[in-house]
Amino acid sequence: MTGAEDAGRSRDACPVCGVHALHLLYFPDVGIGGVRPMDELVGMGDLKPDQPPGIGCTACGSEWESLEDFRAAQRAEGGKH
Ligand SMILES: [Zn+2]
Repeated sequence: MTGAEDAGRSRDACPVCGVHALHLLYFPDVGIGGVRPMDELVGMGDLKPDQPPGIGCTACGSEWESLEDFRAAQRAEGGKH
């Protein structure tokens, strides 16, 4: 236990794996121009710049396109039990 994990905890738990490791996905702003090494790194060249930030889980790699999608996943998960 180093405390580093605690600092990275999110308030909400991931609906998929239950770990508090959610973070906002900020899409690259193509309007700024210049080099975007991240695109080559992750191969996300088809992202739309006008999309709002999505939500991702660093523990299991799940991603949601928007907060709305994420909340829907939470409700779906809660309804199963
Ligand atoms: Zn997860």
